[in-house]
Amino acid sequence: MISYSGLSNPVGFSKMRVLGRVRRPMLLVAALTLATLLAAPAQPGAAEPSIEAGSEATLFQNVRIFDGKSSALSAVASVLVRGNSIERISTSPIAPGAGTLVIDGGGRTLMPGLIDAHWHAMLIRTTPGNAVFGDVGYINLLAGAEAKDTLMRGFTTVRDVGGPVFGLKHAIDDGIVVGPRIYPSGAMITVTSGHGDFRQLSDLPRQVGGPPTRGELIGGMAIADSPDEVRVRVREQLMQGASQIKLTAGGGVSSPFSPIDVVAFTEAELRAAVEAAQNWGTYVTVHAFTSDAIQQAIAAGVTCIEHGFLMDDATAKLIASKGVWLSLQPIPKELVQGFPVGSVQRAKADEVWSGVARTYELAKKYKIKTAWGTDVLFSQALAQQQGAILASLVRWYTPAEVLIMATGTNAQLLAMSGKRSPYPGKLGVVEEGALADLLLVDGNPIADIKLVADPGKNFVLIMKDGKIYKNTLSH
Ligand SMILES: [Zn+2]
Repeated sequence: MISYSGLSNPVGFSKMRVLGRVRRPMLLVAALTLATLLAAPAQPGAAEPSIEAGSEATLFQNVRIFDGKSSALSAVASVLVRGNSIERISTSPIAPGAGTLVIDGGGRTLMPGLIDAHWHAMLIRTTPGNAVFGDVGYINLLAGAEAKDTLMRGFTTVRDVGGPVFGLKHAIDDGIVVGPRIYPSGAMITVTSGHGDFRQLSDLPRQVGGPPTRGELIGGMAIADSPDEVRVRVREQLMQGASQIKLTAGGGVSSPFSPIDVVAFTEAELRAAVEAAQNWGTYVTVHAFTSDAIQQAIAAGVTCIEHGFLMDDATAKLIASKGVWLSLQPIPKELVQGFPVGSVQRAKADEVWSGVARTYELAKKYKIKTAWGTDVLFSQALAQQQGAILASLVRWYTPAEVLIMATGTNAQLLAMSGKRSPYPGKLGVVEEGALADLLLVDGNPIADIKLVADPGKNFVLIMKDGKIYKNTLSH
């Protein structure tokens, strides 16, 4: 910890920090300078991402467009990006202005950057133990390294549904770390014993209003056991920049004291969260597997359900009739096998996993608004399969439907954040005026969805916010 004891007034200090005029102790200045040097962009040519600076516009010529909405590619077209958005799309040639970088697409496919709607940027490369008890600096650096890989897999946006991610997001948005856009939830809000309460029994009893536990201190989780406590926790996340709020409305697999079948919050507690989020123009999403947990959440005004793997037919019908979102994940078997055979967690994982296929069938049957995500946890190897997990959706959907879900449809879910969206503008589509998050694919992913499973080879250009982070055509 750096001591600010030389400053006379802590309140005055925080005011100065907002204005960006903090007189930092010398040591900190030196450390920041070093950090800036270490974070300098890598030289192009290596496997490192390289931002092609210098041109304020990029013109893609000779591309066929998958626009994130329709199931067929466009005729051969040109797409002009200026600044961070798409200025013009035309099947007639567009003349490049002075200083415009021209990319000859060679008939390849130009598509929107991919969106993962259920991601935990802080919880991929760390271990469960380290996530709660480890060194925060190290956890952030791990997450920064993973964020770069995430973008280089073609994922230009993630919806982060739990974890202390605000610092990482800030560093990415400032250009210090390379990574995707992040829609942060901040801490997972849980009841005592709920999914996300990773305390030991020796931590009990909790004194309401007492000192927070380590997991709460670092912003990973927040325990709330009354409507008033829920409101405080929700507002704490909003104050830090949460674009949506995540509560765990039912039991979870990885939590030690959280049976799958339980309903965690009361309806009044969930409603308090919904009100606080709505007052900020955004929404609540809940982790829930069972019909009971889902039905209570919907009664409380929750508008997005994560998982839903153990719901019955009537609950699926209710989700559809209320226009509630279902954020689904085709959980790969490897995620289940990460839990030791014979453990409580493994038994819970097996039970939940068996419901995945049925839930996709229900989502299709009732035409539920369905988002796609991966929910990779504690495995860099599985994260590398992010595109392959997306492609595995062809068990239930056509390749075009899969690609639309991971672009245009997921972006509609992101748009529920309203004015709390950190990135005003349209995502997930290739259309005039939309934000320029684009992939140039060597082939037609609608004809061959497996292309998205090998992004290193097949995504020859990756653009986020108008900046090119990968371009193998020019080398
Ligand atoms: Zn999750």
